[in-house]
Order: sequence, then structure tokens, then C-alpha cells
Amino acid sequence: MTLTITLAIMTTIVGISGIFSLEEFQEEYGKVKDHNFEMLLNMTKLKVQSNEVLTATTDMFLAEHETDLQILNFYIDGRMAWIDKLSEELADRVDNVQELFIFKSRLYIQVQVISDEMLNKMALLKSLLIEYKKVEKYKRSQIKEGNSDIALAVDNIMSLFNSMDQKSLLSQEKPKTEEVKQFISPLKHTISEQEYKHITALFLEQPSLTFAYQHYLAQLEVLNVLKSEHAQLSKSIASVTGEAILMAEKNFLNNLNKAEEKISLRKSDLYVLMFISFAIALVLVFLQIGFLRRVHLIRKIIDAGDAKSQFQIPINGRDEISEMAKSVKSYIEEILEKEQQVSETNKKLEHLAMHDGLTGIYNRRYFDAKLEQEHIRYLRYKEPYCLAMLDLDFFKNINDTYGHDIGDKVLIDFTDRVTKQLRETDLFARLGGEEFGLLMPLTSEINALILMERIRNHIQSIPCVVNNFRIDYSVSIGLVEVKEINDMHDVLKQLTLADKALYEAKRTGRNRVHVYQGEQLITPQRA
Ligand code: GH3
Ligand code: MG
Ligand code: MG
Repeated sequence: MTLTITLAIMTTIVGISGIFSLEEFQEEYGKVKDHNFEMLLNMTKLKVQSNEVLTATTDMFLAEHETDLQILNFYIDGRMAWIDKLSEELADRVDNVQELFIFKSRLYIQVQVISDEMLNKMALLKSLLIEYKKVEKYKRSQIKEGNSDIALAVDNIMSLFNSMDQKSLLSQEKPKTEEVKQFISPLKHTISEQEYKHITALFLEQPSLTFAYQHYLAQLEVLNVLKSEHAQLSKSIASVTGEAILMAEKNFLNNLNKAEEKISLRKSDLYVLMFISFAIALVLVFLQIGFLRRVHLIRKIIDAGDAKSQFQIPINGRDEISEMAKSVKSYIEEILEKEQQVSETNKKLEHLAMHDGLTGIYNRRYFDAKLEQEHIRYLRYKEPYCLAMLDLDFFKNINDTYGHDIGDKVLIDFTDRVTKQLRETDLFARLGGEEFGLLMPLTSEINALILMERIRNHIQSIPCVVNNFRIDYSVSIGLVEVKEINDMHDVLKQLTLADKALYEAKRTGRNRVHVYQGEQLITPQRA
């Protein structure tokens, strides 16, 4: 019973734990999934934004020609506001990837620097243009005035700038003031002092085309350095965003693994619970089989009423069946005890019904029944038998002389002594008072007579000693052989015949045997 309840509870626990585990896993898995999705989304946004910044700055580098200056202006103006916005967004993500934030900040500064440098370059270009225009104007005025030498020199210097411009862009060399001077110096003696001063001012004094151009080239160099840094930065951003994505994936896998570990732990717990439940179920089945077997055994024992089998009932346990077996056993024992008592009482009653209370030999009832049986046998098989009636002589005198008790003891003495003389097949019974009957089956008259005479002689020759009294007594016997008496169907009639013979024995003097011989009565000689 207890085991059944335990099994039910454990099965419930297994079921509920299973459901909880599944829910827990679902929740955990959902969290991990959401977290990972958010991270990937953020990373992707960052990557897109970083790329946009990079594309924008790359565009700025490409816009070097004068025609593109307006586009460049547009980029730079719009870009500054955009970078501020991006910077704010990046600040929000500092928790996710620290390193990325640092790179982003660097990117922000770099883009700002690049923008500033570009603006510088633009300003320089403007001043360069002004200087160019001044030189151009001076050249035209000299041609107009017919100063072809000066116009040529100016032209040469301009072409030097133009060639140096190309050259310096390729080799990044700066144009040298000395080279410009080489063109101007030869003119010192051919042109007026005023003209010479003017040319020198145009090319060598600040602000002059040479210096403005030199500044412009220096700015270009700075931008070149920034370009390489920009490339470096773009690489770093790619690698950092890549790393961040990898990290996010790693986190995702880690969290997933943790969830899986939890689940597998719960799974092994569930397996253990399931195993225990299974074992209990198995034990219950075996107990059930044992229980049923024992119930069957008890039923068989009860059905058979088998007294010996009761000891096969296992009663050592404390379970219901053992309790039942104990009850059955005690019940059977009680019944058996009662049966025993009844049979003993029956035996006593039977004995009492068949025996005489004083002498212990058979009584009248039993004798009559046996006589009836014997007579029926005689009628069927014609097997003769003899019947005798024995009566103590003058017994009343013994009672009167010695008392009733001693009379009783004489009766006992008589039956003891007669019994010793008889055969197994003879039936000796007290018919009442001091009168006895003797049935001798399959016995001829001669043999019966011999036996009767022996008894009579034995009684009369040996006295009975009771309470120091020596009592002599004798017995008279009437004998009848039942043979060829076909008409005698009344089973008790032959007793009358024996009684008749006894009467004759008394009448003719007692202490004798008289044999019934029909109407003719023969009295044998006294021994
Ligand atoms: P008879 O020779 O003619 O047989 O004389 P009897 O005295 O033996 O015969 P009677 O019928 O006159 O007396 C029988 C006596 O037996 C009478 C009775 O008191 C006595 N008696 C009968 N049953 C018992 C008994 O169980 N115990 C004792 N002590 N006496 C008994
Ligand atoms: Mg008598
Ligand atoms: Mg009598």
C-alpha cells in the first residue's frame, strides 16, 4: 500500500519536473535567442554606420579637384552633424564592447581632423587661386606693355609650378624657393628695379604664390598621412565589429551550452527518478504475484479444509495477507480443536452408547444390534452361530450379604474373567443387572458348549476376593445354536430361546449350562 502511494507520488514528481524542465529550457533558450538577436542587430547597425562614415570620408579624399569643392563642402557640412549623432549612439553601446567604443571615438576624432584638414586645404586653394590670378594679371599687363622678357620669365615660373604641381603630387616633393629664384635672379640686370621687386613680391614674399603653394602641398601631405590612418581605421573597425559579432556568437553558444547543461542535469535527475519508479513498480508486481499466490494458497487450504496445509501459509510478514493468514490459521486451529473435542465427545458418547458403565463391556443396545447383524448374515449365508445368556446365581444374596458396592465388584470380576476366556470374534455384553449375553459367530454348538462349560467351571472354581472377602459365586448359562431355523425372521426371538435355556438351567439347579434343543431340552452333565 505504502509502496503504491510512493510510486504514484514519484511518477507525479517525474511528470511535473519534466514539464518544469521543458518550460525552464524554453524560457532560457528564448532569453539567449533574444539576447543574441539584439546583439547581432546592434553589431550590424554599428557596422553599417561605420561603413557610412568611412565611405563619407573616402568621398572627401576623392574630391580633390576644384570642380568637386562644392560637393566636398556639402559633405563636410552635413557630415559634422551626422558624426555627432553617431557619436551619441556609440556612447550608448559602451557596455557591449569597450574596445569598439574606443575605436569609434578615434574614428570620430579622425573624421573631424580629416574634415578640418580638408577645410584648411580648401582655404589654401582659395588663396592659391588669388595668387595665381595676381600673377596672371601681372603677366598680361607686361605682355600689353611689350615687356616680353618679364612675361616669359613669369610664364616659366608658372610652368615650373605647374610641372612641380604634377611632380609633387606624385613624388610628394615640395617646390623649393631656390628654384623659383633661379628664374627671377637673371632678370635683375635686364629689367627695372621696380619690376624686379614686383616679381619677387609675387613669387617670394608672403603671401606669395610660392609660399601659398608650399603650404598647399604640406596640407596635401597631412591628408596623405590621414589617408593611411583612415585605411588603418577602416581595417580596425572591420576587425572589431567582426570580433564583436564573434563574441556575440560565442556568448550565444555559451548561454546555449549553459541551458543545455542545466537541461541535461535535470534529465539525469529525471532518469534516476524514473529508474526508482520502475524498480518500485517491479517490486509491486512481484509483491502482487506473491500476494495472489498466497491468497490462492489460503483459498485452496480453506476449500480443502486441509489441516496440515495450514502450516504452509506464510505468516511471518506484517502485510495484510500475513495478517489474513494468521487469522485463517487461528480460525482453522480453533475449528480443528473443536473438531477434536467433538470427535472425543462423540467417541465418549459412542463408547457410552455401546458400553456398560460399570463393567466396561458392551451394553444391551450394542449387543442387540450385533445380534441382528449376525442373524441377518445367518439368514443370507446360512452360517450358524451360537447365543448364550449368562446369569449369576443368587446374586441378590451377595448384595444382601456384602453390600451393593461389593456386588458391583463381583460383577466386574465376572466380566474380566469371562472376557479372558473369549476369542476375538466373540461378543460379550451386559444385558442388565447380573445378566449377560454372549454371541459366538461361526461357532458350532459343540464348541460353544465347551467354551460355556469352561467359563462356568472357571467361575465356580475360583472365588472372587474383594475387600478381604472371599466370595464364591456361580453362573447359570442358557445356550442356543441358531441353525436351520428358517422361519425365525424375528431377530430378537433367539434371545428368548437362550433365555428359555437359562431358565431351564436355573430351574434344574443353577451353576450349569443348558442347551436349547427345541421342545426337547437336554441338560448336559455337570463337570
Ligand atoms: P437367581 O439365582 O434366581 O438368579 O437369584 P438372584 O438373586 O440372582 O436373582 P434376582 O433376580 O432375585 O436378584 C437379582 C439381584 O441382582 C437383584 C438386584 O439387587 C441385583 N442387582 C441387579 N443389578 C445390580 C447391580 O448393578 N449391582 C448390584 N450390586 N446388584 C445388582
Ligand atoms: Mg441371578
Ligand atoms: Mg437375573
